[in-house]
Amino acid sequence: MPSSAPSPARPGHVPFASLGLSPEVIEAVARLGFEETSPIQSAAIPLIMKGHDVIGQSETGSGKTAAFCIPAIERIDPTKAVTQVLILAPTRELATQVADEVHKLAVCKKGVRSVPIYGGAPYERQFVELKRGAHIVVGTPGRLADHLARNTLDLSGVKMVVLDEADRMLDMGFREDIEKILAAAPAERQTVFFSATISPPIQSLVRGHSRDAKVVKIEQRVVSGAPLVDQIYYEVRHHAKFDALARLIDFYDVKSGVIFCNTQQMVEELADSLVARGCAAERLHGGMAQAQRTRVMNSFKKAAFAFLVATDVAARGIDVNDLELVVNYDLPYDAEDYVHRIGRTGRAGRKGRAVTLVSGAGIYKLQSIERFTKAKIRREQVPSAEAVESRRSDALFDKLRTTLETGEFPRQVSLVERLLEQGYTPTEVAAAILHHFSPPAAVRSAADDAPQPSRDEPRKHRHPPARFQNRGGGGEHGKPRKFGPRNRKRS
Ligand code: AMP
Repeated sequence: MPSSAPSPARPGHVPFASLGLSPEVIEAVARLGFEETSPIQSAAIPLIMKGHDVIGQSETGSGKTAAFCIPAIERIDPTKAVTQVLILAPTRELATQVADEVHKLAVCKKGVRSVPIYGGAPYERQFVELKRGAHIVVGTPGRLADHLARNTLDLSGVKMVVLDEADRMLDMGFREDIEKILAAAPAERQTVFFSATISPPIQSLVRGHSRDAKVVKIEQRVVSGAPLVDQIYYEVRHHAKFDALARLIDFYDVKSGVIFCNTQQMVEELADSLVARGCAAERLHGGMAQAQRTRVMNSFKKAAFAFLVATDVAARGIDVNDLELVVNYDLPYDAEDYVHRIGRTGRAGRKGRAVTLVSGAGIYKLQSIERFTKAKIRREQVPSAEAVESRRSDALFDKLRTTLETGEFPRQVSLVERLLEQGYTPTEVAAAILHHFSPPAAVRSAADDAPQPSRDEPRKHRHPPARFQNRGGGGEHGKPRKFGPRNRKRS
C-alpha cells in the first residue's frame, strides 16, 4: 500500500513557516512553490533574522540567494523611503538575478522597492531610483562606488549589507571598491557574507568588517549511491530541457518513471507540457490535498499512468519497486537528496536508470554531487531525432521477427492474402500495415511540431525521421510517389 503522507522532514529541510517569518514572505514563498527550505536556508535565515553577522559558505544552486533575500526583505520598513539593505554582487547577471529574487519574495509585502545598479547601464534611471530611496539596492561594486563618489547613493540608513559571492568579487579585483562601500555604511549595520570558499583574503575582509560573525557551512556527508543504477547526465540549455526529456523518454522506451522538480510550479508546468504532448503523466506535490495525493499514488502503483512528476516532499512516500527511470529535471540541492531520488529505481535487484538534466552552472553542483556520492555519473549527448527513430524501428523489428518466428497469426494471413490479390506487392502491404500500427512516440517533442533547427542541434536532425519520409511522400527523385494497385497478379 503506497503511502503519500510526508515522512518527517530531512535534516536541513524544514517548513518555511517554522522560521518565524512574516505571513507576507510565507505567502510569497508558497507562490513560488518552495515546499521547504534548503539546508543553507534553514541554517542561515534564523541567524540573520536575529541580527548576527554571518558568513555562509555555499555554492550557486544551494538556495543561498533566498537565504539572504528573505531576512533582507523582513528588515525593510516600507514607510521609510531610504535605502535599508545593500547587496553587492560580482556581475551584472548576478545582480539582476538577485534583484529578481528580491522582487519575487517581496511581492506580498506592499511598497518594498528594489533596484539593480550595475555598470554598462545608463545612469539616469539609476539616479531616479536611488533618489526615490529604493529600499533594497543590489549592485556591482564598481558602479556602486561610482554612485558614492557622485553622492547619488546614500547609505546612511542602511541596516544590512550582504556580499554575495564575496570570493568572486575579490578575485575580480573589487576589494578597494568594497572597502569604500563598507566604510560608507553605518558602523552598527549587520554584515552578511556568502562565499563558495572561505580563503584567507575572505577571512581578512570578514575580520575587518564584521563583529563575531557566525559561520554557516553545510557539511556534505559522503553518501553511498545505488550500485544498480546507471547514472547519466545530459548538458542542455535551459530552454531545451523539455525537448531533451521527450527524446530521452522515447529513446529509452520507458514505461514508468518519476520526474523530479524542485518547485510545485515546475511540477505543474512540466506535467501540463507532458500531458499536452500526449504523455500519460500525473503530478504530485505538497500543494495538493492529501486525498488527491493518495489517489495519484494509488493509480501510479497500479500503473494507471506512466510518469509521475513530483517534488521531493511529495515523493517521500513513493513505494514502487519497479521504476525504470528517475529523472532529475531540476538538480537536487545536495548529494543526499540525489541519492534519495535515484534510490527509487534499481530496487529489488533490478537495474535502473537515473537521468539528470544539467544547464549552466549546474554542472559544478553535479560535480560536487558526484564527489560526495563517489558514483560515476556518465555524460551523454541527447539522442537526435534520427537516433530515437532508429531505436524505435529496431524495437519494432525485433517484435515482428519474434511474432514471425512463432507463426501464430492465421486470421491475419487471410487479410494479407486479400490485399495481395488486389495486386499490391508484399512490401507495400507490410509497409501500409506498419504505417497504421507502429506505436506513436510516448512524448512528442516540440521539435516534432516545429521543424526548425534549435541552437542545440544541427539542422540535419530536424528533417523528418526516415520512418515518415515516405508518408504520402518523396519518391526517388523527390517526386511524390503514390502506392496503388498495379493490377499485377501475383504469379
Ligand atoms: P541559488 O542557489 O540562490 O542560485 O538558487 C537556485 C534556485 O533554487 C533558484 O532558482 C531558486 O529560486 C530556487 N530555490 C531557492 N530556494 C528554494 C526552495 N526552498 N525550494 C525550491 N527552490 C528553491
